Amino acid sequence: MIRFLLLILLVGCGLSSPQPSSYLTHDEFKPYQAMFEANAKDHNQETYFIPINFKKETDSFQKGVTETVYKEKSNIIGVCKSVKYTSGVVRGLEILIDPIWWKSANEYKKRAVIDHELAHCVYNRSHNDEVVAGKPISVMNSFVLADYENFYNEYQIELHEGNKVEIKNSLEVNQ
Ligand SMILES: [Zn+2]
Repeated sequence: MIRFLLLILLVGCGLSSPQPSSYLTHDEFKPYQAMFEANAKDHNQETYFIPINFKKETDSFQKGVTETVYKEKSNIIGVCKSVKYTSGVVRGLEILIDPIWWKSANEYKKRAVIDHELAHCVYNRSHNDEVVAGKPISVMNSFVLADYENFYNEYQIELHEGNKVEIKNSLEVNQ
């Protein structure tokens, strides 16, 4: 019994605020995280786990964000943010998604946002707003991709390998 109490106390001491929303990914996002991991593997990329959860009303998208907003019509719908100890030392990363936007989004917009945020967190990628034929050449565009479905394979190459040749060629041919 004493050992049990001691364990609880130690675990309690180990938890410093602010806490990540969860150390796990919400069920809603698990299929999208699995797709990212499978695609990363297909492109010979190493990946690692980042918890993905819905933003709570009390969470601020601005606070603690590391240049990693993702916007649609100027609303931030997702972030890859660092969770810090009170000392300011980073203890980990987490992804938060706006639940209201998520409910209204179609399948490929959902994929695009999760892929975008995971690329921030896992690959440490920044935004790229370059366009060809008026269309974004990167999943790392600051705004949600409207055409992810039609150029999915080309965007996957760009996302996981950083190779923009395929997507540029396809956008030029299809303009
Ligand atoms: Zn972003």
